[in-house]
Amino acid sequence: MPPLSNGDWPELQPGWVWLCGAGPGDAGLLTLHGLNALQQADVIVYDALVGDGILQWAPQAEHIYAGKRGGKASSKQRDISLTLVELALEGRKVVRLKGGDPFVFGRGGEEAQTLVQHGIPIRIVPGISAGIGGLAYAGIPVTHRDVNQCVTFLTGHDKAGDAPTSLDWEAIAKGSQVIVVYMGMKHIDRIADQLIAGGRPKDDPVAFVTSATTGNQTVLESTLQNAAADAAASGLEPPSIVCIGRAVELRKVLDWQSMIVGIQPRDLDPLGRGRPAESA
Ligand code: SAH
Repeated sequence: MPPLSNGDWPELQPGWVWLCGAGPGDAGLLTLHGLNALQQADVIVYDALVGDGILQWAPQAEHIYAGKRGGKASSKQRDISLTLVELALEGRKVVRLKGGDPFVFGRGGEEAQTLVQHGIPIRIVPGISAGIGGLAYAGIPVTHRDVNQCVTFLTGHDKAGDAPTSLDWEAIAKGSQVIVVYMGMKHIDRIADQLIAGGRPKDDPVAFVTSATTGNQTVLESTLQNAAADAAASGLEPPSIVCIGRAVELRKVLDWQSMIVGIQPRDLDPLGRGRPAESA
């Protein structure tokens, strides 16, 4: 990757922290500002959901893992924020690299607040969020004029790790044709129950897009009524983004990933012209 820093790109100064989105997984979904950040960093504090291969663009930097996913060594959020403060105060060029977009359900706002409270200058580099880009890789447009005029993004976990209780589920069930749930797998049973109780049809289509945009992407289609049982039976592991609503049906025509896999040269050339040289 050639360096971008030619004077036209922002310069990462010592003592600054850039909070940077890495996108949902596929390294190609990092933004150019993100790449510019990585190329100038001398330390990168990264999360579990940062896609493989992205850190390879910053071989010059120290890489510090700050993942918090179940089973792995966990660092408390406060510790992460304070680590960022310390690194900045040491005069290092710090990149805080987070999965997706740093300000979407990723505690980026909290980290940024702590930095600002300590007088550390910051820059925010947005990223492609799993709830938009991850669904796009599954052939699900998060809006479509024939389906929805609004979309709701919600988290399946509150601060205590429970299904959120402060939401007006009935309003969401009735008011939002498409609902995208982050961190929704664990409590999908309760989320589905609340939406059905709020007036959502039991057969509303649901898609679980797991490890979206990576080589391990899997899509499970279900209905609101069967979502929890189907997810449990599938054995799918997080991370998974859950889409609820008729947008899921568009996958039937827009699942472009399986088109790429499914279309062989023969299909494109039914008369056999333009075949490889061996048939000439
Ligand atoms: N800031 C991130 C979200 C962090 S919350 C973003 O903007 O995408 C973590 C949740 O995001 C996961 O539990 C999952 O619901 C979703 N997620 C992130 N990356 C994902 C991926 N590659 N595939 C599916 N879901 C993903």
